This record gives sequence, structure tokens and C-alpha cells, in this order.
Amino acid sequence: MTIDALSRPLTGGLGYTDGMSVRSMRVLSGIGMLVWIWSCGPDQGQAQAQVIRSGPSTCKTVALTFDLCPVRTGSGYDESLIKLLAERQIPATFFMSGKWMASHQAQVRALLDVPFFDVGTHGQVHAHLPLLDMERQRMEIERAVTMLESNYHRRALLFRPPYGEDDDTTVEVVRTLGLRLILWNVVSGDPDPELTQEAIEARLTQTVRSGSIIVFHANGRGRHTRAVVEDLTAELLPKRGLKPVTITELLDHCPADSAR
Ligand SMILES: [Zn+2]
Repeated sequence: MTIDALSRPLTGGLGYTDGMSVRSMRVLSGIGMLVWIWSCGPDQGQAQAQVIRSGPSTCKTVALTFDLCPVRTGSGYDESLIKLLAERQIPATFFMSGKWMASHQAQVRALLDVPFFDVGTHGQVHAHLPLLDMERQRMEIERAVTMLESNYHRRALLFRPPYGEDDDTTVEVVRTLGLRLILWNVVSGDPDPELTQEAIEARLTQTVRSGSIIVFHANGRGRHTRAVVEDLTAELLPKRGLKPVTITELLDHCPADSAR
């Protein structure tokens, strides 16, 4: 990193100018670093920086994400939802648990075949990660990643913790495995049997904005997921000028024409 890159965010308020000597800038950088360490602390700063809840608000894009948690009953796969997304070419991101992958091999292949679908993993057995020590958290997270890689030749870099539960250990394990920890900032609530389609849509109308990451389920647990996604992508998103993209696109690419 250059001195300039280090100094700019830390000393911007001090009004340094082009005429300032390199030595002065170094001193200011040093002070800036000390202030950063004092104010954030290495633990808080590094841990929180790894947890992603939304994308940039400057880009008029949102990410529709679908968890594939294991199920005890039912098909475990919302065929009509996937068909809608595929037919209308709606980019989406799926978080697949290892246990779900083991019982849905044809469906894993079908999802991987769609070029505008992105995939990540969702743990092996859908464990409550904060209840596990570091070694067991690593096993729970890594097993699904390895399964996807060895059985389907796909290296997925996205990870969503089961139940959205993580702690500092999770963040550290995810970082060492080279994954990105993806949460959300908009809850559809689709597995809640009490919620009607209208209630879910009202909630989305209130909360969806540029950069949103919305959580749904594609394992058949969402009663109204397909209908809600159809309305969302046909009405609410176009009305607000928002475009659905995958998580990777949301985080790494901000198309120039939609950044205004
Ligand atoms: Zn889940």
C-alpha cells in the first residue's frame, strides 16, 4: 500500500496538501494507524470487516439469495421457483448445505449448470456454529466446501452460516478457508407459516433498497417464495430501478450505467 493510500482516509480531516513532505505524511500515517488501533482494536475491526450483510448502496442492484438447508420432510427442492428463475433469466445465489447436496445430486447439477446462478455453501449438517469449538466449526464449514469441490468440481467462495449465526471463531475459520461470510440485510420471512404472500411483499416493499441482500429459501420451506419472487422481479424491483444480480456481482462489479 502506498503512503498516499494509507494517509488519505486517516488524515483527510487534517487538510494535508500536495505541498506536504513525504516525511510529514509518514508521521501522520503513523498517528493515523495508532488512532485506528486505539479506536477499533484489532479484534472488533478485523472480525466485523469479514461479515457481509449488503452490497454498495451506490449501485442499483440487489441480490436474491436462497438457502438450501436440509429438510426432514418434503422434497427439499422448490422446483417451480427454480423454473421461474431459470426461464426468466433472473440471477440468483444459492447456499447449499452438505447434507442437502448429498440427497439432491441431480438438483445440485441443475443449479450449477445455469450460468447466471451463483453458489455458496451453508455448512454440512446445519449446526449452530457458535456452540462449537474452532476445530468443529472448521469441520462443519469445510466439509460442504470439499464436497462441492470433489464431487462437482466447483470451488465456491461464498459461505452463509446456518441460522445466520456466527461468532469471532466463525469469522476466523471462514477467513482462513478463503471464503466470504455472507449474511443479509433483508429478511423475507418465507419459512414462517403465519406469513401470507401479501405480508411478505409488504415487508419487502418497506425494506428493499440498493445493495440489499435478501434471504429466501429454495428447499420447499417457503410457502409463497415463488409468487413473491415473481412479483418482486416483475414489479417492485423494476419500479425502483433495481436489478437482481448474484452476490459476486453485487460485491465485485458495479455496472457503470447503473451506478448513477
Ligand atoms: Zn439454513
